[in-house]
Amino acid sequence: MNSTQEVAVKCSGVTKDYGVGDAKVTALRGIDLDVYRGELLILAGPSGCGKTTLISIIGGILKRDAGRCTVLGNDVEDMNIDERACFRGTSIGFVFQAFNLLPALTAAENVAVPLLISGEERKSADRRAKAVLDQVGLLERADALPGQLSGGQQQRVAIARALVHNPKLIICDEPTSSLDHATGHAMMAMLRDVVQAPDRALVVVTHDTRIYEFADRIAHMDDGKIVEVTVGADRAQAK
Ligand code: ADP
Ligand code: MG
Repeated sequence: MNSTQEVAVKCSGVTKDYGVGDAKVTALRGIDLDVYRGELLILAGPSGCGKTTLISIIGGILKRDAGRCTVLGNDVEDMNIDERACFRGTSIGFVFQAFNLLPALTAAENVAVPLLISGEERKSADRRAKAVLDQVGLLERADALPGQLSGGQQQRVAIARALVHNPKLIICDEPTSSLDHATGHAMMAMLRDVVQAPDRALVVVTHDTRIYEFADRIAHMDDGKIVEVTVGADRAQAK
């Protein structure tokens, strides 16, 4: 990675424990990590190593115990609750492991929710939602309910919803974990081709080594630490 490239996420010395006393679990033991604009960074490591904890802190949905973490130069812990909600809503797109789609709303309505919450008119929100559904290859299912869609299709709706605000940081937690190999591969190709953009950082959490090839860099975590950062296979060959 070129050192002149702009940093989108900067973590230094981030620590996190859950619980207290005998029940204490140390999830993060001092994380130093930079993510650059324009890159697809895979955050890899075995189950329980702290991946979800780290992205929750980066995304401003969990408080760290110590250290610093900035997103696009902003530290969400310096913000009040309204500022934080606004920053998250405009700058960060989160794709949760469980998708978190609203079952009574159609695909297009689910995608439009963040826009409606931020006060956009229904008509223009619907237009924008359908444009993003088109980008992820799901326009023809815009009127389907989540229950009528496959896991991979629901995943695409969740990605469209994360993209609808055109945020500069997208975080996906285990996007291929519930997909078969071919669908998972197609999902990663879609993330790389549609979601990755020169001014946008994309962090993909996984423990699936088969998708490493899609990354610019892979940050390997183990037991609450980043143990190694490697260059993705395609990029290494290109050099
Ligand atoms: P990963 O996403 O890599 O599987 P997590 O960040 O979810 O790892 O978890 C890291 C560690 O923190 C694990 O030991 C997990 O059991 C523990 N942990 C995660 N969330 C909680 C919680 N809410 N309460 C207590 N322990 C937790
Ligand atoms: Mg996890």
